[in-house]
Amino acid sequence: MVQIHMGHSPPAAGRRKRKIVLIIGPTGAGKSRLSIDLATRFFKPSEIINSDKMQVYGGLDITTNKITMPERVGVPHHLLGVIDPTESVFTPSDFRKLAAQVISNVSGLPIVVGGSSSLIYSLVAKRFDPESDVFNGPDPDPVSPELRFDCCFIWMDVCLPVLNRYLSNRVDEMLDSGMFEELVEFFGSGGFDKVNRAGLGQAIGIPEFEAYMKKFPRIGDVESDEGYNEAVRRIKDNTCQLAKRQVGKILRLRDAGWDLKRIDATEAFRVAMAADSGGVKASEIWEREVVEPSVKIVEKFLKE
Ligand code: ATP
Repeated sequence: MVQIHMGHSPPAAGRRKRKIVLIIGPTGAGKSRLSIDLATRFFKPSEIINSDKMQVYGGLDITTNKITMPERVGVPHHLLGVIDPTESVFTPSDFRKLAAQVISNVSGLPIVVGGSSSLIYSLVAKRFDPESDVFNGPDPDPVSPELRFDCCFIWMDVCLPVLNRYLSNRVDEMLDSGMFEELVEFFGSGGFDKVNRAGLGQAIGIPEFEAYMKKFPRIGDVESDEGYNEAVRRIKDNTCQLAKRQVGKILRLRDAGWDLKRIDATEAFRVAMAADSGGVKASEIWEREVVEPSVKIVEKFLKE
């Protein structure tokens, strides 16, 4: 266990930059699980700052896959479900300001967790131009090589065919845990009409179910409807496409020289999904191939 002693002040001229850990990676790659492992067992006290652009909004907790209260096991989480989705869109500039404020108030280790590269970039780039887009389009703007924090990036990677299989199962699990009912309530109570379409309105699950919900507004109507299956198929497809795009953006940061420490969780995922894992426990592989190397990386970073 490493006891964290860190300054409270934001970075300023002549002072050392504030140390932060960032756990990045595509949706579903195990970022939240790793953040809780690090925060509860190795680096105390730590506080988690969400950097998923849909999870910053309040509501649709299952659909946006927010970490639940029991899963947080008392670790403080910031910028999770705090923005009113009916107001104007929460921008990368908003995140740059708010997350930096949170970080300056955290007395322990700040761990930024989430896969939205636009938010991560806005937070840590030394020079950030809200007008520039460093990830999209045929001719993206250059990535700033200089960072305003002392950053330890842990890149959670899972090879895409394995991740896609996991994501497809995860959509079924989310539906089992009440995602459909949550969306019925959202559309039925006028949430869809009030929500900002350019913000939470883009969460995967909403556009895919929009036409269906208008046709069948009650849960009882769902039976034997091809439209439901089609919406689920599109959610699975769009989630896999999202993961692929997120990896592309991470590669762009890496190719620009950002020092990303890649952790390969593929085997842990493969074994967890295998019907017969030959007695090998996925949790042991997770521990050996994900947690242990991550702890070493962060320990080294904190000593530097
Ligand atoms: P982009 O520039 O494409 O918006 P980004 O880096 O800002 O990318 P991403 O995290 O890649 O942000 O999110 C892109 C899109 O993926 C979102 O607009 C949304 O449609 C979907 N998405 C992201 N996170 C979630 C989530 N937690 N739940 C549902 N949909 C999500």
